[in-house]
Amino acid sequence: TGRLAGKVVIVAGAGASAAGWSIGKASCVTLARQGARIVALDFQADAAADAVRAVEEAGGEAWAVQADVADADAMQAAIEAAEARFGRIDALQANAGIGKVGGPEDIDLADWRRIQAVNVESLLIASRLLAPRFRAQGGGSIVAVSSIAGIRYTGYPHLAYSVTKAAVIHFARMLAQQYAADGIRVNTVIPGLIDTPRVQANVAKMYAREGDLAAAKAARDKQVPLGRMGTPWEVANAVAFLASDEASYITGTELVVDGGLTGK
Ligand code: NAD
Repeated sequence: TGRLAGKVVIVAGAGASAAGWSIGKASCVTLARQGARIVALDFQADAAADAVRAVEEAGGEAWAVQADVADADAMQAAIEAAEARFGRIDALQANAGIGKVGGPEDIDLADWRRIQAVNVESLLIASRLLAPRFRAQGGGSIVAVSSIAGIRYTGYPHLAYSVTKAAVIHFARMLAQQYAADGIRVNTVIPGLIDTPRVQANVAKMYAREGDLAAAKAARDKQVPLGRMGTPWEVANAVAFLASDEASYITGTELVVDGGLTGK
């Protein structure tokens, strides 16, 4: 039962960079609660295993696969293995994302290229593997995870991350047009300030210099019209909707989950 009953969903970047609930891990549990069987894909085997444990504790079914989303051969092997395991694949949540703070004079070319590869080339790699499969079965859904950094300046230089997150949005729009006739829907979720282990670490680092961390966090919460950071679960709900047949007439668009921060 549930809006994703019978569906197999790959969550790429399924783990968390530190203990706690990341968007990927909360998505695995949310999608599984709604009936999906989950392929928890991560390049860190223990992170994938952790996501599977979380799904199983919630009474769902998940399977871990280790692969780097930027490695075409590894992704092909992972998708073939997932298919062998579950018989089909209905949707992908392209969730793996990395960044490095800095502007053009701060970032190494190698870091820039790695960020492009993980955040953008990964979409090329996954979509060219999945499109023929989705076409053959009459449809499928891809939900890419961008960031508000991809639609506006967020207050500090985060050039490589922001540019790739903008590319994610346009990549999904292009793909949606190309594959609509095959019944393949492609959409983007744009999270705002989400309370995840990664962000907690960044916020602590950024505000450490400013002394009172609690006051700095409260000031940050106040910038958001809804008055607080979002939870990974609130992003996961948007992903689940777009991946499901309830979104059957939605393709080539973006769902902003930011508490009103950008006003988009
Ligand atoms: P996170 O950084 O805590 O975890 C990401 C997971 O992806 C980790 O388990 C990591 O091992 C995996 N991963 C990283 N690179 C990978 C690769 N090359 N191949 C396979 N797996 C890889 O995640 P998060 O902070 O919840 O962010 C998830 C997504 O949401 C990212 O795309 C991020 O840019 C986006 N996002 C997050 C926020 C936020 O506030 N946390 C806001 C906007 C957008």
